[in-house]
Amino acid sequence: MDRRLYNESPYIKEWQTEVRDVVEKDGKYHVTLAETAFFPEQGGQLADGGTIDGIAVEGLYEKDQTVFHVLPSAPIGKIVSCKLDFARRFDHMQQHTGQHILSNVFEQLFKADTSSFHMGEEDASIELAMPDIPAQAIKAAEDKTNEYLARDLPVKTHIVSPEEARKFPGVTPPEGAEVIRVVEIETVEFNACCGTHVSRLGEIGIIKIVKTEKMGAGQTRAYFKCGRRALRDYQVKHDIVSTLGRQYKATETDLVSRIDLQASQLKVANKEIETLKNKLLDIEATEMAKSATSPLIVRSYDDRHFDELNFLGKHILKNGNFVLILSSVPDKRLVFARGDKFADLNCGKIFKEQLQAYNGKGGGSPNWANAGFASVEDMKRFEGFLVDFVGKLSLVV
Ligand SMILES: [Zn+2]
Repeated sequence: MDRRLYNESPYIKEWQTEVRDVVEKDGKYHVTLAETAFFPEQGGQLADGGTIDGIAVEGLYEKDQTVFHVLPSAPIGKIVSCKLDFARRFDHMQQHTGQHILSNVFEQLFKADTSSFHMGEEDASIELAMPDIPAQAIKAAEDKTNEYLARDLPVKTHIVSPEEARKFPGVTPPEGAEVIRVVEIETVEFNACCGTHVSRLGEIGIIKIVKTEKMGAGQTRAYFKCGRRALRDYQVKHDIVSTLGRQYKATETDLVSRIDLQASQLKVANKEIETLKNKLLDIEATEMAKSATSPLIVRSYDDRHFDELNFLGKHILKNGNFVLILSSVPDKRLVFARGDKFADLNCGKIFKEQLQAYNGKGGGSPNWANAGFASVEDMKRFEGFLVDFVGKLSLVV
């Protein structure tokens, strides 16, 4: 068993100690020390980082009540100098202690227990016994939690026996443990916890819930950020809001209504464009029908989308009895359609029988079929086949 310096003070950043053992496994060195302040991943809290004699600690785990430090090379001396990445650790202390107080506030305000805690590199989250967390509840919880932070209450650690631990209100010692760490937030709560915590709530700075996610079974996950993470989040979001404000020429307070207004104007404009486009297609279809010299109309378009050709086809057939082969090069799609007069021609059946040979996929009814192709060449070959096929029928209007 090694001595855990983080239990004595989570603020120890540098120390010298003796190497107990070094074991090589798959090219990595698993080192145990007489004393360590490196916290392995535990209780939802992320593992620390840092160096041992200048060698980066790549991983940490606990086994047989000992912390193993995974290094890319073995330290040479018996006595080593250890250095904790304290910026990383302090961030973890802020998120972890923030979780204690946030969970407590949800319990106070909404009688919602926290069933789990997870700390990620970006967000930390708790799972709460609430089917949903409405916006007002989020604000209320944030306000109350931040009030506690502003009061800068002390956070104390008590190392006690299981019997002594039971005397703290609400503390149930974990089974089999000989020594219990009880973390106290003065005047608020006692908690049996193995993580690292700040010594006063003011060190957390600020806490903000950034997202909630319904988990089912009456549970909701709340993602939050404390301290520098919350500041970074604010900076990123402030940049986004400022950029949008400039783009939309709006102040922060009118930004949302300005975007809503533009979105509704865009919807109206799109509708008008569609109406005008349809009118133009209608005129074009009438012209095509009028000027057609044969009942077979074949057109391939390099700049038109398939939806437009569908519409055009329907309007041509409204103007007379034709057989149409219309294709869109950008969409690699083709429509084959006919008027009621040519009932012997079954478009859907021809597609079903022939498409596979042209790497096409599609189908349709006796008077209307369409297909998409793997390549423009395949589509052109199929178009050629259809022209030949219809040519042999000697259609008469
Ligand atoms: Zn804790």
